[in-house]
Amino acid sequence: MLARHSVLMVVVFGMVLSGLIYLNNIQCRLVYKQPDVLAGRTDVASVSPWSAPIIWEGNFDSALIDSIYKQHNLTIATTVFAMGKYTRFVKDFLESAEEHYFVGFRVHFYLFTDQPESVPEVKMGENRTLTIQKVPVLNRWQDISMSRMEKLEKLIETELASKADYIFCLDVDTKFYGRWGAETLGRLVGVIHPYLYNVPRNQFTYERRPASKAYIAAEEGDYYYAGAAFGGSLEDVHHLTRTCREQLSIDAANSIEAVWQEESHLNKYFLLNKPSKLLSPEYMWRGISEQAAPIKIVRFTNVPKNYAEIRPNP
Ligand code: UDP
Ligand code: MN
Repeated sequence: MLARHSVLMVVVFGMVLSGLIYLNNIQCRLVYKQPDVLAGRTDVASVSPWSAPIIWEGNFDSALIDSIYKQHNLTIATTVFAMGKYTRFVKDFLESAEEHYFVGFRVHFYLFTDQPESVPEVKMGENRTLTIQKVPVLNRWQDISMSRMEKLEKLIETELASKADYIFCLDVDTKFYGRWGAETLGRLVGVIHPYLYNVPRNQFTYERRPASKAYIAAEEGDYYYAGAAFGGSLEDVHHLTRTCREQLSIDAANSIEAVWQEESHLNKYFLLNKPSKLLSPEYMWRGISEQAAPIKIVRFTNVPKNYAEIRPNP
């Protein structure tokens, strides 16, 4: 009786195993368009001078990328801050993320806010969670924006180690309109700013005063990166946030605040520590109705806001 039972178990186990092998084969045999060696987009650069890919619509196959990354059972931590009146953006941010952001992947959102009670109920999909952390509000918008570096540094140290594979840190006054998926994953990821992708580097709004740690000379710099979105591996983003937090506090001790606060320091960081992947302005656009020739799809945009009404100070 026992022997027959074990034979049955072996047979069932064998069937499950061959099913898995069969499934795995199907995955390997995903049919997709042959990669072309000679054709591709010619209206944009798809690689940086240090050979980092620049991600544009038309240069990747979403189904193929998803099938590669899904095998790794990844968790993507995503942080967002909503302090003071910026809580009004949370609903659209989260709802649009549910529709477009890493669909089918495990995503853990961390929302920092001074008003946890104001966070709306958003129905999260399978394997997607939201953790709310209460933080005290600061008086100046510049301080709120800058303080994110320190908060992120601490979050990675205390919460995320071994709980996530990648992290993205995003502005909340934003909304997703198109796919943002595994094509964006990399060790260190920056987004090219939507207003400065086509101007000479001496016109970039880098910090130009040598007294600041964020200083970049007129003849230096690669791209102008948005402060509203960056990401990468936990280790690399930890190093980024720690460095920017240190440089911000050195500036504060010297009574200087970089022209675009932590965005200026992020740009200095990316000059010295080149991103391994760059996202085109499709991934941080000016608004859903704005058009520009190279932008074939708007994936993620700024939401227009009345600065005087929404910010706690001018
Ligand atoms: N922020 C906030 N409350 C404020 C000011 C800023 O929560 O009163 C956060 C919010 O996450 C916002 C980010 O800081 O997305 C950056 O500030 P803001 O969007 O005003 O800067 P901008 O994108 O206009 O340069
Ligand atoms: Mn913003």
